[in-house]
Amino acid sequence: MKIEEGVELARFTTLGTGGRARAFARLESEAEAAELLQWAEEHSLGAAVVGLGSNLLAADDGVDRLVLKLGGELATVEVDGDLLRVGGGAANAVALHRARAAGLGGFEFACAIPGTIGGGVWMNGGAYGSDFAGVLERALVVTADGSGWLTPAELGLSYRHSELRHGQVVVRAELRLRPRLPDEIKAEVRELNTRRKDAQPTNRRTFGSVFKNPEHELSAGRMLEACGLKGHRIGGAQISPKHANFIENADGATTADAIALMAEARRRAHEQFGVRLVHEVEFLGELELPQL
Ligand SMILES: Cc1cc2nc3c(=O)[nH]c(=O)nc-3n(C[C@H](O)[C@H](O)[C@H](O)COP(=O)(O)OP(=O)(O)OC[C@H]3O[C@@H](n4cnc5c(N)ncnc54)[C@H](O)[C@@H]3O)c2cc1C
Repeated sequence: MKIEEGVELARFTTLGTGGRARAFARLESEAEAAELLQWAEEHSLGAAVVGLGSNLLAADDGVDRLVLKLGGELATVEVDGDLLRVGGGAANAVALHRARAAGLGGFEFACAIPGTIGGGVWMNGGAYGSDFAGVLERALVVTADGSGWLTPAELGLSYRHSELRHGQVVVRAELRLRPRLPDEIKAEVRELNTRRKDAQPTNRRTFGSVFKNPEHELSAGRMLEACGLKGHRIGGAQISPKHANFIENADGATTADAIALMAEARRRAHEQFGVRLVHEVEFLGELELPQL
């Protein structure tokens, strides 16, 4: 296995920002995952996976970790009865396509989530009232000390949250689906995509929802809109004029621009609504938001 140094993470995030990884490796099997995690441990280096980087802000001054990218055998999708056996690096879109072709429904919600299976498990990704916790049977998690299959309860899945930590790699998962006509799946996906296009920026570089929805009558997006933040810009990053809970790379944005925008959004939501918004996007590297 080749371990590279100084690979630009901006290439691997949908926002297109982020500095260099101290070490970077591609892996294609469970055994390689174990080997790489052991290598990182021997070199006193933390490890972290990047999926499709669709929910990730990586620090501009780099990430002092071994960053892993799953591919090959770990990006495959197989159908076994009503079970979808997927690699942690498989794109949700590929898994959904295979499920539809096999007449298996239940994963339609993932048409909205432009990430991988591993990222979906980590985030308990979800949309339109469904989430990974609802379809995940179990996930194979590798660490430097060994591997094991974990159920959603053992993974601690809740709203956009799991108990997984960097250094744990989701290499495989099994999704329990149910028989459904491919045409019905296609029609539902089309309808969900139309709804999404009407409400969210779909042709911009973003990282999905910036903040989790708070326990409040207003969603994070509506709250930030009420704060007058739509279109607000810092450096090359801009709060989407279409949906205030999205940040777009308007022109040469850096991660620092996005963080500054998030800090301002949190400050205003706190001032106006007394709510402390919690970020949904994951941070990689030395990144944090100022205390409120
Ligand atoms: C336009 C757009 C719309 C979106 N809409 C939604 C939505 O409706 N619902 C929703 O939930 N999300 C949404 N997202 C956010 C994002 O797509 C999801 O959170 C997705 O699950 C992230 O997957 P990823 O592979 O891109 O993970 P990444 O962004 O690469 O990583 C996210 C986290 O998961 C970890 N990770 C990734 N893969 C693995 C693995 N194999 N093993 C261990 N850890 C791993 C990373 O280390 C990181 O901490 C949207 C994003 C965009 C850009």
